[in-house]
Amino acid sequence: VTQYLHNIKQYAHLKAFNEVFEQEAIQKAEELDERIVTGTTGRLAGMVIAIKDNICYKGHQVTASSKILENFTSIFSSTVVERLLAEDAIIIGRCNCDEFAMGGANENSYFGPVKNMADESRVPGGSSGGSAVAVQAGMCHAAIGTDTGGSIRQPASFCGVVGLKPTYGRVSRHGIIAYASSFDQPGPITQSVEDAALLLEIMAGADDYDSTASREPVAAYSNLQPSSGKKKIAYLQEVLDSEGLDAEVKATLLKTIEDLKADGHTVEPVSFEYLDYVVPTYYILTMAEASSNLARYDGVHYGYRSPNAVDLVTTYKRSRSEGFGTEVKRRIMLGTFVLSAGYYDAYYAKAQKVRRLIKERTDEILKEFDFILTPTAPEPAFKIGRQDIDPIVTYLEDIFTVQASLAGIPAISLPMENNSAGLPLGLQLTTKAFNEAELLNFATYFV
Ligand code: GLN
Repeated sequence: VTQYLHNIKQYAHLKAFNEVFEQEAIQKAEELDERIVTGTTGRLAGMVIAIKDNICYKGHQVTASSKILENFTSIFSSTVVERLLAEDAIIIGRCNCDEFAMGGANENSYFGPVKNMADESRVPGGSSGGSAVAVQAGMCHAAIGTDTGGSIRQPASFCGVVGLKPTYGRVSRHGIIAYASSFDQPGPITQSVEDAALLLEIMAGADDYDSTASREPVAAYSNLQPSSGKKKIAYLQEVLDSEGLDAEVKATLLKTIEDLKADGHTVEPVSFEYLDYVVPTYYILTMAEASSNLARYDGVHYGYRSPNAVDLVTTYKRSRSEGFGTEVKRRIMLGTFVLSAGYYDAYYAKAQKVRRLIKERTDEILKEFDFILTPTAPEPAFKIGRQDIDPIVTYLEDIFTVQASLAGIPAISLPMENNSAGLPLGLQLTTKAFNEAELLNFATYFV
C-alpha cells in the first residue's frame, strides 16, 4: 500500500484518480498484516485495487466524473465491491473516467482529462482511462473498470495492460452507475492474465440484486491451464481491409496470425459483412438507453441542484443544463430523438433488428471457430484534444470493440509489442458467451 501510495503521488499529474482512500487503505493493510498470521485472510488479501468512479462503494463518494454527482455519497456497495472486500481486497481509491462512461479517450471527465504514461501528450483511452493508467503506472495492483462498448479493452490496449470484458450478465451490474443497461459489464484491468482470471472468478456469478446476472456456474477461472490442443481462429477480412487501420497495428495482427499458424493453430479469414453497421447500431441503442437511464438526475433525487432554480421546471432544466457535460447532453438529446414517436421505427427499432443480425452472424462464426482475433483499436493512443475537432472520429475508434458488446459475448485485450514510437498496441480475442475459461487459458499464449 505504501508503495502504491508513493506512485500515486509521483504520478498525480496523470489524473488517474478522482479520490485516494489513503487512510482507509493503510488501516486495512495493517489489519491484514495482523490477521494474516492467523491464516484467516481471503483470497485477495494483499491485492490493492482501484475502482472506476462509477462503481458504488458504501460511505464513499461516487461521481461518474460528472458535476451532477459531485459530492454524492453511495448509500450501498455494488455487488462487485462487496465480493472484492469479502476476499480482503484493499480498495485504494476511485479512478477518473469519461462522464457516465461516455467516451473513448477519457477527455469527457468533469475533473479533467487523464494522461497516458507512455506519452503524456496522448490519451489513455476511455472510458476507464484512469483505471488503465492506475495499472500502467503501478498505482495499484489491479483495477476494476466497466465496458459498454470497449471501455475496458480500448484503454487497456492504449496503456499496454490486460482488459477483460466478460459475457453480458457474467458479473452483476448492481451498484454500477447505469449508462446502457443492455451492454454494461464490469471487469478487471490487470498486468497479467492470471490476475484477470482470479478477479473474474471472485466477481462473477448470480446476484439477487440483478436479474440479468446469470446463474451459469462460475468456473475456476484462476486455475489456468496452458491451452491444450490446437485452436481454430478467425480473423475478419473487413477488419484487415478497413480504411482507418494503422499500418503498425495491421502488421502486429498479421505477424500474430503467422505465429499462430507456425504453432499449428488454424487461422482463417472470414467475412463479417456488418462491420460498417456496428458503430451506428451501437450508438443508436446506447444513446437511447442512456437517455432513459439519465432521466433520474433531476436535481431532486441525486447530487447537484442548481442554485438558480426557482420552481420545479427550472429545478429540472437548470440542474441538468448545468450538471451534465457536452457529450452527455449530446447523447441524451440523440437518444431522446431516436426514441421519439416519429422516429422510433426508423432508428431505434431498426437498430434493434440490426443488433440481432450482428449477433447471429457473430455467433455463427463462433460456432465454427474458437476465437475471433482483431486489433483492439484501429490505432495507438492519439493526441489529447483531437475529439474537440470531431466527436465522430472518436466514435469510430470503437469499430472493433462494439461487435462483442452488441453480441453480449466476452472479449479480452492483450498487450503486444509497442510500436516504433514506443506506444502500446493491443490485440483482442473474442469468444462464445460464458466461454471465459477457454478465453483466459488461450490468452496466456500471448502474454
Ligand atoms: N467509447 C464508447 C462510448 O463512448 C464505449 C464506452 C464504454 O464502453 N463505456 O460509448
